[in-house]
Amino acid sequence: MTRPSTTARNIADLVAAGVLPSAALDDAALADVARDYAVAVTPELLALMAGPPDHDPIARQFLPTREEATTAPGELADPIGDEAHAPVKGIVHRYPDRVLLKPLHVCPVYCRFCFRREQVGPGGESLNDSELQAALAYIAARPEIWEVIVTGGDPFMLAPRRIAGIVGALDRIAHVAVIRFHTRVPVADAGRVDDALVAALKATRATVYVGVHCNHVRELTPAAVAALTRLADAGLPLLSQSVLLRGVNDSVEALEALFRALVTARVRPYYLHHPDLARGTSHFRVSIEEGQALVRALRGRLSGLCQPTYVLDIPGGHGKSPLTPAYAGARDATGHRVIYDFQDKPHRYPPG
Ligand SMILES: *Cc1c(COP(=O)(O)O)cnc(C)c1O
Ligand code: SF4
Repeated sequence: MTRPSTTARNIADLVAAGVLPSAALDDAALADVARDYAVAVTPELLALMAGPPDHDPIARQFLPTREEATTAPGELADPIGDEAHAPVKGIVHRYPDRVLLKPLHVCPVYCRFCFRREQVGPGGESLNDSELQAALAYIAARPEIWEVIVTGGDPFMLAPRRIAGIVGALDRIAHVAVIRFHTRVPVADAGRVDDALVAALKATRATVYVGVHCNHVRELTPAAVAALTRLADAGLPLLSQSVLLRGVNDSVEALEALFRALVTARVRPYYLHHPDLARGTSHFRVSIEEGQALVRALRGRLSGLCQPTYVLDIPGGHGKSPLTPAYAGARDATGHRVIYDFQDKPHRYPPG
């Protein structure tokens, strides 16, 4: 099989790329999954696949499977409740000091566990010019908005000219101190991070951050690291967001390798997300207890630079809460608190 040079967008493309068996062409259940949830895998990620989804952490994240046809109890079309906090099209305003700005619903790849899987896709709507102006006017009219998180979809899929337009418009709103982009492009389609994109991210007044979605150390190929280096060399602080996923990174070893590699690439691990209750994703879910045990084990093993905050987005739009295991115990009769160290040994801390 030869690897294609373009993004695979359906089952036939994936069979032609050699990552799905030819029997997949006749699999009606798989065809239903691919119709319900968008499929895209870039050549970079196709080239990284080294086995079927139940054995390979890259294939598992991007190849459609029949397991997605099962909607488990409690799974939701809008698991983190964006719709409940969307005052105008393209804006989600849940916390007073920051908003999400979603200019488009297209991504370079479609992750099989995506929390917005029922909104993203090639047919997904983008904001037209007047809708974008209305979203920017909403931000401009609210001085309490300190930060704008540009997400989607993946905002790095926009042409650099359009990115520059959004950065420039936000830069002119004096109360917006921070513009944060969330993207998967550096790992999924590293070639897009070129001089034009880097230049488009330059603001004259506001501070621009870039948050990169990355779940496994193998996503950090030399091309991906080169893309991150271009962003870091341009002076952009880099953060990561990872999703804790069964069969992808649900081991101490996988998370350790991921966070060490991110820090080495100048990306500060920011969030480790507990998987959201998106429809058809139960095969990716781990329990909160498993997640906390992993986070506790990492605390004892890794530099503080390699410790993201483990968070859950509460279903229904109630926001993110840390799921960090408790290190501070209750007070005893003498007012001392029990504090647990990284090896889980208790210590008494005096009152006062
Ligand atoms: C996740 C999220 C944010 C960003 O939260 P941080 O904790 O600042 O990273 C902001 N708004 C909404 C609606 C979100 O879902
Ligand atoms: S890149 Fe993000 S928004 Fe796009 S499919 Fe993956 S998880 Fe969803």
